Amino acid sequence: MSDTDNDQLEFRELFEAAPDAIVVVDRDGTIVRLNLQVERMFGYGRDELLGKRVEALIPERFRAQHPQHVASYSKSPRTRPMGSGLELQGRRRDGSEFPVEISLSPIASTRGQMVAAAIRDVTDRKRIEDEARRANSYLLSAVDSIQDAFSLYDEEDRIVLVNSAFRQLVGPTTAGAIVGRRFEELLDGAIDSNLLALRDETASAVRDRWLSYHRSPSGALELETRDGRALRVIDRPTAEHGTVSLIMDVTDDRLRADELRRARAQAEAASGAKSEFLASMSHELRTPLNAVLGFAQLLQRDRKQPLSDRQKDRIDHVLRGGEHLLKLIDEVLDLSRIEAGGITISSESVGVRAVLDEVVNTLEPLATRANVQLAVAPISSVPPVVADRTRLAQILMNFGSNAIKYNRAGGHVMFRVSHDDASVKIAIVDDGFGIPADQRGRIFEPFHRAGQEAGPIEGTGIGLAITKRLAELMNGSVGFVSETDLGSTFWVEIPIDRVGGLAVAVAAPSAAPPLGSRTGARKVVYVEDNPSNIAFMRALVDDMPGIELITAPTAEIGLDLIRAHQPAAVIMDINLPGMSGFDAVQALKASPETQSIPVIALSAAALAKDTTRAREVGFYRYLTKPIKIDELTAVLEEVLS
Ligand code: ADP
Repeated sequence: MSDTDNDQLEFRELFEAAPDAIVVVDRDGTIVRLNLQVERMFGYGRDELLGKRVEALIPERFRAQHPQHVASYSKSPRTRPMGSGLELQGRRRDGSEFPVEISLSPIASTRGQMVAAAIRDVTDRKRIEDEARRANSYLLSAVDSIQDAFSLYDEEDRIVLVNSAFRQLVGPTTAGAIVGRRFEELLDGAIDSNLLALRDETASAVRDRWLSYHRSPSGALELETRDGRALRVIDRPTAEHGTVSLIMDVTDDRLRADELRRARAQAEAASGAKSEFLASMSHELRTPLNAVLGFAQLLQRDRKQPLSDRQKDRIDHVLRGGEHLLKLIDEVLDLSRIEAGGITISSESVGVRAVLDEVVNTLEPLATRANVQLAVAPISSVPPVVADRTRLAQILMNFGSNAIKYNRAGGHVMFRVSHDDASVKIAIVDDGFGIPADQRGRIFEPFHRAGQEAGPIEGTGIGLAITKRLAELMNGSVGFVSETDLGSTFWVEIPIDRVGGLAVAVAAPSAAPPLGSRTGARKVVYVEDNPSNIAFMRALVDDMPGIELITAPTAEIGLDLIRAHQPAAVIMDINLPGMSGFDAVQALKASPETQSIPVIALSAAALAKDTTRAREVGFYRYLTKPIKIDELTAVLEEVLS
């Protein structure tokens, strides 16, 4: 084969293998040559096209115009893309169309001037471009639909994109186009046209503040407009070293927050007033009850003039009624305070076993009287729980006393402890009356006594309500199952202490002050303004040999008498006319001659916070009215021994 032949062969192979479809047409627009890609792209066989007009490859609607284009190209032939700026379409043999790009090149041949058209199918590229265009327009309309003023700045801090809300906000403060302007120019416009309220800043201070926030934004910038709107600006740097900025109108949020704050303050004041009211109500109710219960107890124990059995029986009724009333007052007060969020629950690491023993010991006399057997199921090892020890005991006492109360002679009550990974469950199982099915739903609601309202068993219907709220405050829960005539099981679940024995220190009760060398050892000064209480105390002390009672109607007089008599003990009311019992005990503790005299508080205020405060200011013991004679005599004997 000659070199020329070889060259021709190579050229043909190249021509056939070209990625574009190439057709060569003569001056008249007749196809004289084509490559394999043309066949593939347009679906024609080679012979079907050779010698045909090139218009076969374009959609019919463009064919009439085409020969003109061919003619004008032939006049000034040069390599160039065809129909620049136009969307060109190819037409396949089957009539379907597709987007193409065509570049034209003149070819001089022995047969005269020819034109080679390289055709590229751009369907895929068009699709990608369309998608990008669509995505872009989605983005623009999303940005525009943002309620907040949106703006995007390039690395030179010029605006690239803003939305309508931004135009509305900034438009009136600046003339001309916004896009392309620098942030600082817009800022100056906003400052100069008094967009912002200055409060106690100068205009240039506000400008500086905004500018420095924009340059290195962190958190949010709060501004206020002159017409009273609150604006929150949030700027963030973009990956392209520009900044994106949102300006939100937070006027409504601000108003709502103010309203909420006001409402909360009102609610707190109301709840405070309610607590105060309850505390004073409970005080007012306890004071007369104090006289009723105190004197009834004295009558019952009077050794000089013992009561007849008939009288004793009646006094028993008085005492029981009074005690019931007292319990009711305590429980209503407790529940209201829990509901008002007025109690603090401590989180101690509590050993379940010890609490259980204490509860069982306390319940034992009640169980013996009711002829019910108490037992604790064997416990292997129980992890400590996180709870308020006193309140946990209160829950168990309530479940336990119910299990005894709503039971029959010969009944059984069993405490059963179990645990899983998260919590310890203490169940109290009884074989008592059970709770009727139709009453079970509301058992934890206050004042619901589940059919016991008319029965002989005393109760207030508040205990379970308190129990449930307390358990929840300790992140625990309560539950029960019950079967009429077969019995009930109530339980409480309390979370396990994971930290392990990191008990919150609880202040130990103050140790008894040394008795020792005080003069006038068996004198007791009683500071009290209520004559009925004084009469009661006199009657009580009468029964205790060797005690001399000195009474004082006010704390001021009491302090004088205490200094003069150096008594062995002081009993102090808290609510006194003039100086309070708290102030009086502080005065005693501050003076070396009286600081070691034990002072027993006797108050109608039974709130936990009073007890805590009493301990802090140095009372030896804090007893609440109505006076429980056994409790008071025990404390007196303790300090006088
Ligand atoms: P109270 O005992 O003062 O009436 P509680 O709130 O403690 O109030 O209990 C509400 C009611 O639930 C009780 O009146 C009683 O009818 C019922 N109850 C509670 N515990 C038991 C129990 N272990 N067995 C049967 N009934 C019970």
